[in-house]
Amino acid sequence: MPSRFARTPFGLPYKLLIWGLGLAFWSLVIVIELKVLRGLWGDLFGLFRQRDGLAAAVFLLLLMVCAFLRRRSDAYAHLLAEDGLMVLFVLVFPTELTITLLGLAGVLESISQHAERLQRRLPMGDWLIVLGEIIFQGGVAAFIGLTGSTVEQAGHFSEWHLAPRFGLRELVVIPLIYLSIFTMRVSVSFLTLWTRGISLTLFLQDVRATQSVITFLAEFATVVLSIMIAVVYARLDFLPVVALGTVLVALVALLSKQAEAAARQQRTIAEMKILVGVGRALSNPAQTRRELLKTLYQEGRDLFRADSLAVYLFPEDDHRPQTLEWQSVTTARPKSERRGTNVPDFQQSGNWTANSSTGEQVALLPEMDALGLAEWCVQHKQALRLQDIEREAALYNYRWLTERLPYRSWMGVPLEAEKKVLGVISVASQQPQAFSEQDEEMLRALGQQLVGALEKARLYELATIDGLTGLLNARAVRARLAEVFAKTLADNGQMGVLMFDIDFFKKVNDTYGHEVGNEVLQYLSKLVRSKLRDTDIAGRYGGEEFIVILPQTPVKGALDVAERLRRHIAARPVPTTAGELPITASFGVAYLPMPGVTTPDKLVEVADQALYASKRNGRNRVTLASEPGVSESETSAPA
Ligand code: GH3
Ligand code: MG
Ligand code: MG
Repeated sequence: MPSRFARTPFGLPYKLLIWGLGLAFWSLVIVIELKVLRGLWGDLFGLFRQRDGLAAAVFLLLLMVCAFLRRRSDAYAHLLAEDGLMVLFVLVFPTELTITLLGLAGVLESISQHAERLQRRLPMGDWLIVLGEIIFQGGVAAFIGLTGSTVEQAGHFSEWHLAPRFGLRELVVIPLIYLSIFTMRVSVSFLTLWTRGISLTLFLQDVRATQSVITFLAEFATVVLSIMIAVVYARLDFLPVVALGTVLVALVALLSKQAEAAARQQRTIAEMKILVGVGRALSNPAQTRRELLKTLYQEGRDLFRADSLAVYLFPEDDHRPQTLEWQSVTTARPKSERRGTNVPDFQQSGNWTANSSTGEQVALLPEMDALGLAEWCVQHKQALRLQDIEREAALYNYRWLTERLPYRSWMGVPLEAEKKVLGVISVASQQPQAFSEQDEEMLRALGQQLVGALEKARLYELATIDGLTGLLNARAVRARLAEVFAKTLADNGQMGVLMFDIDFFKKVNDTYGHEVGNEVLQYLSKLVRSKLRDTDIAGRYGGEEFIVILPQTPVKGALDVAERLRRHIAARPVPTTAGELPITASFGVAYLPMPGVTTPDKLVEVADQALYASKRNGRNRVTLASEPGVSESETSAPA
């Protein structure tokens, strides 16, 4: 069944179902076998000496091939072809042989299914599940044979294969046999899905969306064909049976291919939708490169059903020879790790652990582990698509390069702008054969969009980001303030604004020089940014005057933030090239709603007045702005 519906595929209800029903079915089948057959094995061996033995083997093979083809695609109606063959078994063989053969078919199919899962490294569950599934599938198939045979017996039909004909009775009973088998299969499938925690309505919706009437008719032809095989087998020689069997397999194979193509088409449509969405997100002109990559990481992975999407770039203002860096955007993960300048080639052996600043070896993130592959793309100015890293790495003797990767598929495309390689975009998956040629083209297209978007984002940063501190510049922060101000008024909400200014900063400049002063500004900016929420906005308002906008924050919260920042700044001297310098700052806090404050400029003005009250009252303190016209009240001072 399609894995995309499976959430918790191997839970306890599922285990109970497969073992309970599996054993129940088998007991029933064995009781009947023992009752009908005095010596089961003797009879079976006797049978294989006759023509029926060969026929049984051929029919079994047909069933297995149909089941195998069905598994290649996610087609549901392929059940029909197998059901048709089950009708064939019921018609051609006596009850006890039918259930023996179908039970065997179920067990064999389950074993081949598990072998396939093992080979493709799909989740299998523990051995209790594996064994249970084999017993269950065999039991279900045998029981389905029993159901069909019972209907056959009830219709006084069991000798039909000796003299097949199509009278009124046949026209009623054969469809009834088919219906009973179909109903059994569907109910068992649904029960299995249900215990696996799969949403049945979602599943049915998907069946409805992917199955057309035409396909259904073509699928149904396999049932008719199966019954014809039964007739031919009873009336004619064996050769026509083989010929018709071949036609049946061809039909099922065609249907399987068609279902695969339909599924692929559906996927392509879905991918186009995502690609358009990602393209739109990337083309937003008002975002930094960081924001751009964040969007790309979030949305881009879906496009390739990938476990990881990474972008590697050459830092532009890098004085050293060019080294590729992985561009991470989350602060929780370490920033890109620099590597040596010489790109290793695949024959060389190497060690891909890195040393942390404390000297101990740290495990690299998969994205960094794949840096060598990205470097290959840059060096060769070529896309690289590895379908099965494990196998290919062994084949080409570069296992050392990939052995740490938790992925089996990797694909990277160089990012090129006017013949110059800027970096690499890559995707990776834990599944082998995860990326097709079409995916490669799509990654190329995405890469092209990314190159344009990165350039736009760079220009945006130039216009809005303060070069020294990395915070928003005064113009940009004023624009953001206007936005937040308007939204707060519209929502009848609350917001806070902090202004702060470094105390006696002239002295730092005068004593240690402008450069050291700059270091202090950089350090404090980073400190402040790291202590704020993602939604807070920090900007450099003047030379050494900063502003923090706190959307959706009450006065109390704004005061707390200011006090916290003040303490963090004062708590530890700032490390600079001239040694550690004790630094403090003075704060002014303004807020909305505040009577008399109707414009963003006024809000900044009252915050500024509060800041200067802090200065007047001795510095290194936080002052809450008072309503325009009323004198300020000091709220905190150093202990
Ligand atoms: P206080 O604020 O406590 O009243 O005293 P202060 O010495 O800090 O006075 P003020 O805020 O007026 O000082 C502004 C100084 O900040 C002037 C200038 O030398 C310095 N400054 C402004 N921008 C920069 C800059 O980008 N880099 C450096 N190094 N210094 C700057
Ligand atoms: Mg100052
Ligand atoms: Mg100042």
